[in-house]
Amino acid sequence: MPELPEVESLRLSLKPYIVGKTIQSVIVHKPKLVSSAGTVRTPSEQKKREFETKLVNKKILDITRVAKNMIIHLDSEEIILVHLKMTGQLVYQEQGSPAILGGHPIELSESTLPNKHSHIIFTLNEGVMYYNDIRMFGYVLLYPNIDILYQEGHFEAIGLDPLDNNFTYEYLLKALKKKKSKLKSVLLGQSIVTGLGNIYADEACFQARILPYRLASSLKPKEVKALYNAIVSIISKAVAMGGSSVANYIMADGSRGTYAREHNVYGKAGLPCNVCGNPLQKMIINSRTTVFCKFCQK
Ligand SMILES: [Zn+2]
Repeated sequence: MPELPEVESLRLSLKPYIVGKTIQSVIVHKPKLVSSAGTVRTPSEQKKREFETKLVNKKILDITRVAKNMIIHLDSEEIILVHLKMTGQLVYQEQGSPAILGGHPIELSESTLPNKHSHIIFTLNEGVMYYNDIRMFGYVLLYPNIDILYQEGHFEAIGLDPLDNNFTYEYLLKALKKKKSKLKSVLLGQSIVTGLGNIYADEACFQARILPYRLASSLKPKEVKALYNAIVSIISKAVAMGGSSVANYIMADGSRGTYAREHNVYGKAGLPCNVCGNPLQKMIINSRTTVFCKFCQK
C-alpha cells in the first residue's frame, strides 16, 4: 500500500511530462476501474464510453494531490481522479525513450508496454500514459469539475497534509487534545493529519520519543512539538528520497525509493534499537503491527 510520500514522488515526477499535453484518445479495457470507487463495483459500459469520448482533445493543465488521490486537471474544468490503492501504477512513455514508471512495481511493465495489466491507455499528442493495476482495487474517475468531489464529501474525513502550510504545531496541539484514543490509531485515522500510514506513523512516534499506545489527549505541549517536527521532517525526507522501497514502490524515473534505509522501527520488531540497543517491541493497534522502543519512547 503506497503511503503519501510514494504518491507525492510519483506526482512530482510525472508533472513535467504530462502537463501541457493533449489527450488524443483513451482506451478502457476494464470498465469497472472508471465506473466507481469502493470495494464492490459494477462495471458501467456507459461510464466507460463517457470516459473514452469526453477526454478526447482535452489538454492537461496540472496534476495535484489530496492525500493519496492524484487529480489531473483538464482545460475543460473536468478532472480525472486517480487512486492507485494496493497495486496500481502510472507509466508514461515517449517513443524511443525509456518509460517513466511510478507506483507499484510491475515487472512486466519494465519490458513490455502495454501489457496484460494495462487497463487504461491515454494516448497524448506526445507520449502514452498507462494505468496498470494487478489486483484492480484502484480507480480512475472522471468528474465535471473539482467542486463536485468536495460536494460529494469525497475528502470529508481527510485531515491536513503534513506538507500544507496550515499544518502547524498549534493545529496539532488543539486537534490531539480532543482525541481520547491511542496516538497511533489517531495518526492512522487520517482525520487530523493525512498520509501517515503504518510505516510513517511508527517512525514519527519513535523520532518524537512517544509511545504509540499513549492516549493522544495525554501528550504534553513539548511532546506535541516533537511529534509535529518528526512528522514534517520524516514526510519531507521520504518524498525527497522517493518513498520507501519496502512498500515496493518505484519512482517515476524508474529508480527505487530509498527511504527504507532510514527506517528505525518499521518492520524491525525484535531487532536492537538504533539508539539504545535494546530489542524493539511490537503490539497490534487498529489491527496493524506497531513497533516501538519501550526504553527510548515515553
Ligand atoms: Zn531504544
